Amino acid sequence: MNKYKAVIGLEMHCEMKSKTKVFSNALNNYSEIPNVNVSPIDMAFPGILPRINKECVKKALMASIILNCKQPEYLEFDRKNYYYPDLPKGYQITQMHSPIGVSGKITIDCNGYEKEVLIHDIHLEEDAASLDHYDDATLIDYNRCGVPLLELVTEPCFSNADEAIAFLETIKRIYQYCDISEADTRKGQIRCDVNVSIMDENSTTLGTKVEMKNVNSFSNIYDCINYEIKRQSELKASGRYDEVIQETRRYDEESGTTIRMREKVEAIDYKYFIEPNIPKYKINKDWLEKIKLAIPMLPKERKEKYINEYKLSEYDANIIIKEKDYADYFEETVQIGADAKSAANWLIVNIIGYLSKNDETLKDFYLKPQMLQEIISAQNSGQISSKQAKEIFIKCLEEKKHPKEFMNKENAQISDKDKISEIITVILENNPEQITAYKNGKTNLFDYFVGQVMKETKGKANPVITKEILKNKLDN
Ligand code: ADP
Ligand code: MG
Repeated sequence: MNKYKAVIGLEMHCEMKSKTKVFSNALNNYSEIPNVNVSPIDMAFPGILPRINKECVKKALMASIILNCKQPEYLEFDRKNYYYPDLPKGYQITQMHSPIGVSGKITIDCNGYEKEVLIHDIHLEEDAASLDHYDDATLIDYNRCGVPLLELVTEPCFSNADEAIAFLETIKRIYQYCDISEADTRKGQIRCDVNVSIMDENSTTLGTKVEMKNVNSFSNIYDCINYEIKRQSELKASGRYDEVIQETRRYDEESGTTIRMREKVEAIDYKYFIEPNIPKYKINKDWLEKIKLAIPMLPKERKEKYINEYKLSEYDANIIIKEKDYADYFEETVQIGADAKSAANWLIVNIIGYLSKNDETLKDFYLKPQMLQEIISAQNSGQISSKQAKEIFIKCLEEKKHPKEFMNKENAQISDKDKISEIITVILENNPEQITAYKNGKTNLFDYFVGQVMKETKGKANPVITKEILKNKLDN
């Protein structure tokens, strides 16, 4: 069969994490019980006014900055008018004329090579209700109405399914690290429109694109792209390329194929106009600066730090940054004094394995970084053998007991408040610049100070007491 070049563009919708919905005070929480997190605003009762949620705007701006987009001078919204049962207002509030970010780019790592992905735009909008179809009826659950959505539209710049998935994984991780979204595909928080076309190997003219709507898991997106490339290529190879038309299809998981939904003869006329109920709002430069400063260390930077500073292998670093919980756990263990290579090893070899075997997450894992650090330092100082260390690790988890219970009293924690307070005072005196930066908004320096205390006490200072005293001193 002839070889063709594939071109893929993605529209990634991701539900954001926030206390309340994007235009109302209803809680932005998932609920098994339908229609509990709903306000009159979400239901479009007459006379209601939407009120824009600042937390969502802040997070959307953060994403826009990270993706190297241009931010608009004013925050503005548009109405996209259409009728569908999941849309009680008869329109969706979205951003068309002036998205929160345009013309961005981001470099991603794809199976060992780097690729620059061009971002057309990123915009903030509201989700619609969800429909539950039964044999004899369809039920509407309005809980999802007004849930903040961040939609990211790429240029048609991917050449295969691997690149598309590497991109989605990268963005998902960034959202998680920045607390923009839980980005949990299992909870349906990410949905993608997948656009695929093919063209001759040496052509520069894009082929006819086919859009697959609302594909909801990364493995489905992967399969959907590959199926569509194959379908279009076979039609083209057999002289039937005119059967590839600009249309909307859906991916059918059961058969692993795509099925026609509707032909896109003309673009649907959404009669966009500026949302008149939300006044335009000037995006202050100082605010943007503040948001930039608040961007936490991203997975890519963390990976570089692990490789350069902690001397981990790229392989190990990749495993650790895969989940923010892993990276946080690892860093906390190192911060309180554990040797980095040992901490990485314990995490990768013992802990991740234990978690998957027991279907647990680090959130409910009994052995906290402090405990792991104690085991590691006891082992590295020769107090216990590596075999004993393993045994203690298992005993701690089985009996839900602190590793101290299984070791001598020597490595006891420092919990004396006066003593910790004294150590902190000296450290603060030695770091005036960091204090100024912290007070100016670089709040992630807090961890730096904690790290200094742990360094000074060889990881023995009680972390809870340390953080409490430190917070008191820094904030006064
Ligand atoms: P539409 O007007 O149908 O919404 P856009 O040009 O706005 O189309 O693009 C929507 C999405 O389709 C974008 O993610 C874009 O990258 C992608 N896209 C556009 N043209 C092509 C193509 N020829 N092949 C694959 N993807 C494409
Ligand atoms: Mg949209």
